[in-house]
Amino acid sequence: MIVESMPVGALQCNCVIVADEQTRQAIVIDPGDDVERIKALLDKHNLSVKTIVATHGHIDHVGGIARLKELTGAKAMLHEADVPMYENIAIQAQWLGVEPPPTTALDTYLTDAQSLEFGKQQIEVRHTPGHSPGSVSFVVPLVFAGDTLFAGSIGRTDLWGGSFDQLLRSIRDSLLVLPDASVVLPGHGPRTTIGLERQTNPFLVEK
Ligand SMILES: [Zn+2]
Ligand SMILES: [Zn+2]
Repeated sequence: MIVESMPVGALQCNCVIVADEQTRQAIVIDPGDDVERIKALLDKHNLSVKTIVATHGHIDHVGGIARLKELTGAKAMLHEADVPMYENIAIQAQWLGVEPPPTTALDTYLTDAQSLEFGKQQIEVRHTPGHSPGSVSFVVPLVFAGDTLFAGSIGRTDLWGGSFDQLLRSIRDSLLVLPDASVVLPGHGPRTTIGLERQTNPFLVEK
């Protein structure tokens, strides 16, 4: 499996490309910005994008979906609960003081326990609300946690539809159930593992 990640945009969201080596089919996660660089990386590996997904509807994760969809013809998906956020991207842009990026029609919605195919591989969707109502994580078994879980921290819950209790429940029920050795690539910042977060993350250690 090919896995490439690159921080994109002003907020340095970790955009990830996962692809099947045999069929060259790819899924792009969180194309928040810098679509030309994402496209260049896809071309470098000779990949065709089957599906574009986002871990949630915040502008730094979804800002480039429309342009990438236009360039690749791929399907675009988001969890339904974050669609209002996506549709109000102009308001999010205003909060950040940036120009609103173009948006596109979403093709279908991500749902909990769904599996998305790319070539002979699959990615599993886990609904992990708390940072936002429609936040999801992806497991391949590498874990793409969006802004739900970070190395040594957890996502903020003071934004639209956030809930601290729900976030902790999501992490416990959907992520900490994974094996300790599972590598986690959060939506921002460095990689970590489920085991390390279980043992050292100040929000998660049992006292
Ligand atoms: Zn976010
Ligand atoms: Zn983010």
